[in-house]
Amino acid sequence: MIVVGAGIVGAVCAAELAARGLSVEVIDARGIGSGTTAAGMGHIVVVNDPPAEFALSRLFARVVARTRAARIVDQRELREQKPSLSHAMQGGLLIPDDAIVYAPCAAH
Ligand SMILES: Cc1cc2nc3c(=O)[nH]c(=O)nc-3n(C[C@H](O)[C@H](O)[C@H](O)COP(=O)(O)OP(=O)(O)OC[C@H]3O[C@@H](n4cnc5c(N)ncnc54)[C@H](O)[C@@H]3O)c2cc1C
Repeated sequence: MIVVGAGIVGAVCAAELAARGLSVEVIDARGIGSGTTAAGMGHIVVVNDPPAEFALSRLFARVVARTRAARIVDQRELREQKPSLSHAMQGGLLIPDDAIVYAPCAAH
């Protein structure tokens, strides 16, 4: 099986196909993770337009609020937790088990 494009989508397709036992080759004109994937902020989200997905997102937000230890942090705690962020930021929402990846590395 040949996957054309080694962005995050091609990489995931290749990994899934390989996990199912197929022999997979990934080709890319410019290199792994060099397309739009290189611009991604790394937030792990699934977003689309259909109403069903918005309903799912609303349900997810309610479940998160009930089950995760998300809380608002003030400027002082934000600086302690994330010292590299701009000191102009007044606070934030801390979600301890939230995840961010460097997308080109994930594609590799
Ligand atoms: C500024 C920005 C921030 C973003 N932040 C996020 C985020 O935080 N979270 C998130 O989930 N999404 C984010 N996205 C969206 C996300 O980056 C894209 O949806 C995703 O990277 C698309 O991946 P892809 O594999 O489809 O495309 P690409 O990464 O563009 O991969 C396609 C690959 O195919 C190759 N290719 C194309 N044509 C050919 C050909 N004919 N032969 C060989 N190779 C070919 C290209 O070289 C390229 O490497 C962001 C996007 C942008 C622009």
